Amino acid sequence: MRLILVGPPGAGKGTQAVHLAEHYRIPHISTGDIFRTNLQDGTPLGLKARSYMDRGELVPDSLTNEMVKDRLSRGDARGGFLLDGFPRNVTQAQVLDAMLAEQGVALDAVLELSLDNEEIIKRLSIRGRDDDRDEIIRKRLEVYSQQTAPIISFYRESGLLETIAATGEISDITASAIAALSRKRS
Ligand code: ADP
Repeated sequence: MRLILVGPPGAGKGTQAVHLAEHYRIPHISTGDIFRTNLQDGTPLGLKARSYMDRGELVPDSLTNEMVKDRLSRGDARGGFLLDGFPRNVTQAQVLDAMLAEQGVALDAVLELSLDNEEIIKRLSIRGRDDDRDEIIRKRLEVYSQQTAPIISFYRESGLLETIAATGEISDITASAIAALSRKRS
């Protein structure tokens, strides 16, 4: 299974990604997590990414795409993967298509977790991560609607998109994700 999870910050992508990756036995690749690990370890990549993350902006494509290319070329991602937080704009989506085409493979599905703005803000203010302060949350929502939301129509046109509501019990959301994805693969 080659799967992408997309949805606004706070939709619970990270949580669902863990369950879905386990279910399909594929590696969970979160670009946000990779950036945060690099930041904690003080790597050159972490240092470069930091100011963008602190502002709630996207890290430049040049850094992000290389990082993903590197991660996807590892052996464990050959048979499938779950990408969480990538692609986040149309350019990244095109770069991903090209990377996969080069390997002679293609995506199976793109799962959108949908959630309204009011609920997003409520959830993020409780979470309290470093970049979850009010003005940064607003910025990340703006970046999501301007840069990330367009990839949803991009994938809808290619017939890969499945959308589910990201509200309710975590286990119920996982179950409806799996049900939606089984429609996609058959
Ligand atoms: P969120 O909860 O906002 O979805 P993530 O953990 O996915 O959080 O991302 C945190 C930050 O990491 C983003 O605000 C952005 O600065 C950076 N980031 C993560 N993935 C990408 C990406 N694909 N392209 C550019 N920047 C990214």
